[in-house]
Amino acid sequence: MIEKPVLIKEDGTRHDGRKSEELRPIRMEVGVLKNADGSALVEFGRTKVIAAVYGPREIHPKHMTLPDRALIRCRYHMAPFSTSERKSPAPSRREVELSKVIREALEATVFTDLYPRTTIDVFIEVLQADGGTRTTGLTAASLALADAGIPMRDLVAAVAVGKVNGVLVLDIDELEDEYGEADMPVAMMPSLGKIVLLQLNGVLTPEEFKKALELAKKGINEIYRLQKEALTKKYLSYPEE
Ligand code: ADP
Repeated sequence: MIEKPVLIKEDGTRHDGRKSEELRPIRMEVGVLKNADGSALVEFGRTKVIAAVYGPREIHPKHMTLPDRALIRCRYHMAPFSTSERKSPAPSRREVELSKVIREALEATVFTDLYPRTTIDVFIEVLQADGGTRTTGLTAASLALADAGIPMRDLVAAVAVGKVNGVLVLDIDELEDEYGEADMPVAMMPSLGKIVLLQLNGVLTPEEFKKALELAKKGINEIYRLQKEALTKKYLSYPEE
């Protein structure tokens, strides 16, 4: 049997040295792909995700057309080289589910009624997985939508809170996810204070749930600040005509 790793050390820090309420080192870059209308690369520690947005554009197949709004299509996919053992490139049940919940979260923020009879295609490709790929993917997708100039009510920022050795911790990685007691990804439209995704794998008491949500909100506010910084950086460095 594989021994459970020490997730919370004697001094209260986590296996990677972080404090319980600390995010992993985050990097965000907008406009990383030439051929997409909008794109973003987001890293949370070793988790690396790229998002590409195309549209609003004509729909194929035509029968999917919605007369009163744009159709958002979303594909979340893990590259075969993103995990330690090669992952089959075929979409798994997990990837189909994640594509759906991510699409629903994005539908809450995009003003789809501005672009009837069109589609907005969102591609999320996980380049390297170390936990939190759905939240990193969603954070990257909303940056890519903003980069594509698509009007939104707010950005979407997301992070997962976990419970390991009875302690609530922010932004869990794969090891904490695998050996911890609970994993709760949360996505919000931060300035509107609206939750657009909330899942819970594991068990939390009602009290822990409230605390976990507060912790997620704290992380989300910081992620939101970094998103705005990444968008500002791209437009400030735009070459002059
Ligand atoms: P999330 O990535 O949003 O946390 P999960 O909780 O389902 O989603 O997955 C946790 C982590 O487990 C992933 O980030 C990844 O590092 C790892 N993982 C998920 N699916 C696979 C897979 N098919 N092969 C190897 N590792 C995987």
